[in-house]
Amino acid sequence: MCGFPVVITDVHFTQKSSCNSRTPAVMKERIVDLRSDTVTRPSSEMMHAMMAAPVGDDVWGDDPTINQLQQEAAALFGKEAALFCPSGTMTNQIAIKCHTSPGEECVCSDTAHIFLYEGGGMAFNSAVQARIISGDRGRITASQIASAINAEDAHFPTTGLVCIENTTNKGGGAFYSADSLREISELCRTRGLPLHLDGARIFNAIVASQEYSTYDIGAMFDTISVCLSKGLGCPVGSLLLGSHQFIKKAHRIRKVMGGGMRQAGFLAAAGLYALKYNVERLAEDHSRAKQLGTALSDFPWVQKVYPVDTNIVIFTLQPQYDALSVQEQLKSSGLLISSMGGGVLRLVTHLDVNQEAVDWACSLLQELKI
Ligand SMILES: *Cc1c(COP(=O)(O)O)cnc(C)c1O
Repeated sequence: MCGFPVVITDVHFTQKSSCNSRTPAVMKERIVDLRSDTVTRPSSEMMHAMMAAPVGDDVWGDDPTINQLQQEAAALFGKEAALFCPSGTMTNQIAIKCHTSPGEECVCSDTAHIFLYEGGGMAFNSAVQARIISGDRGRITASQIASAINAEDAHFPTTGLVCIENTTNKGGGAFYSADSLREISELCRTRGLPLHLDGARIFNAIVASQEYSTYDIGAMFDTISVCLSKGLGCPVGSLLLGSHQFIKKAHRIRKVMGGGMRQAGFLAAAGLYALKYNVERLAEDHSRAKQLGTALSDFPWVQKVYPVDTNIVIFTLQPQYDALSVQEQLKSSGLLISSMGGGVLRLVTHLDVNQEAVDWACSLLQELKI
């Protein structure tokens, strides 16, 4: 009996020392991972906050840390309520399910995460089809949306929901202007359509735009999905925000999807920590991404660097070079980047790459012989 906790402790520390790249004893060679802002590990301060969290069974509503995170996040955006979920895919899918009925259409960009990267979830979970719009780096306009709303006619699918992404993922971290968000919001209100924000990286948009606050965002959208596990550096978790009535329904759908978690306050504590300490520093990620983008645009083997607005850098190679072999060559020198297919490569900055690591990555790219 008394051996049991000792085994658990043992496993914990064994894993920690072999997995954490920041532990000097195992840092044989340098790895700078720019594949995504999801690759971050919790800092020791975040881990302390997690380990100290009071927890309870959240399926019974008993987890004080989850309750606190939900209350603080809702208040931050001026929303009535919030729901802590395992992933951003789940918060988006719950929102689509809550807002729509089978056979309806969801208007979104043709590069939207809900359309491309959620496994066909809107069809699978909600029997809804996507009405896709070709946007500017993933950003769609109010007038494009207006033309995609179907007239009331039994031939046509009923338009049930509009969803936009800010910042855009496949669009390379582009953010919306306050004016375009306001136009979209007003259009949806006038037409009586619910408007959902896939705000996986909404804090990147808020910090970079300096044009709107969390309150402004809360006022413009009916529902909002926010990822804690991207630039904010948490190991797990997303939040869905909306009215009391919406979150009550969302809570039921989360249960159906198997997303009810028990003592997940340990994870929510990371979220509380991140909302306090990891939002303003996103500006550093943005300036480091700009530095990488500027460096890349000088190299003869690079064809085009897309505008760098936040923490994502997307670029293409001159036609004679092969994206996968560049990716492999960089990997063998310790720099991990991701390939988006079609010769498009991507770098993402985040809180586990400091200035020195970005300088190192720039000089490695500079010396690349291909
Ligand atoms: C990452 C991401 C999501 C969902 O992410 P999960 O990996 O499911 O947490 C949703 N939308 C966008 C735009 C994203 O970048």
